Amino acid sequence: MGAKMDYIKFLGTGGARFVVSKQLRSSGGIWCNFKGKNLLIDPGPGALVRCLSSKPKLDPEDLDAIILTHKHLDHSSDANVLIEAMTGGRVRKEGVVYAPSDAVYSKEPAIHKYLRDSVEKLEILKEQNSYSLGDLDFITSVIHRHSVETYGLKFTLDRGKISFITDTSFFPELINHYKSEVIVINVVLYKHPGYDNVKHLDLEDCKRLITGIKPRVAILTHFGLTMLKNKPWILAEILTEETGVEVIAAYDGMTLCLEDYLFFNKIQ
Ligand SMILES: [Zn+2]
Repeated sequence: MGAKMDYIKFLGTGGARFVVSKQLRSSGGIWCNFKGKNLLIDPGPGALVRCLSSKPKLDPEDLDAIILTHKHLDHSSDANVLIEAMTGGRVRKEGVVYAPSDAVYSKEPAIHKYLRDSVEKLEILKEQNSYSLGDLDFITSVIHRHSVETYGLKFTLDRGKISFITDTSFFPELINHYKSEVIVINVVLYKHPGYDNVKHLDLEDCKRLITGIKPRVAILTHFGLTMLKNKPWILAEILTEETGVEVIAAYDGMTLCLEDYLFFNKIQ
């Protein structure tokens, strides 16, 4: 399949504890179809149910890979059940799992030990490393500033690049690491409260990223309560005006076809 088929579908757009535990937005992660491969990034609570209730249905048995950017519950809680689903109930050794070391080998792993051998391959994500799933290539970012080991992702598609800027505090180097035509940003906070222990991006950080990266489109997701209260779709309109970049607030079930945004060799 060619680049025309590349799409992402949001099985959830909620982030952080309150929105997730109340399910004010779903938290199923992002299903991607890149170069004909099916990937699920960050399957939080409800991911399996959201796949199966999706229209058209997304069958976890069709997954080629599950990727955890980090082990926090809202990114990983359905990983185990999806590994079972991906492997047809541990019958077929199929599919690849990518996760940081501490999501697999720490004392509190996100992936159960007994499932590790049931997949075709378990690959550990490391800082600024490249990975290949058949002819689909992606790289990890520098380590994020978050409370557990966390990496963002940048995929090279036939006609351009798409980045997923997952949970982190802002630091200027993020801009260089995520140069790409399409960026997906986890914006938990409307306004950062200023405490060092809150390691998430806020709307102002988001604006800095968009202005610095200058993608063709930026998609906001992983909203916490303060973002939801301020209506992400309105904030996205304001950001579009302020930055000159098309900014979209994701909603649960939203599918974005990437062909409109990718142009070969625009950004190296
Ligand atoms: Zn997190």
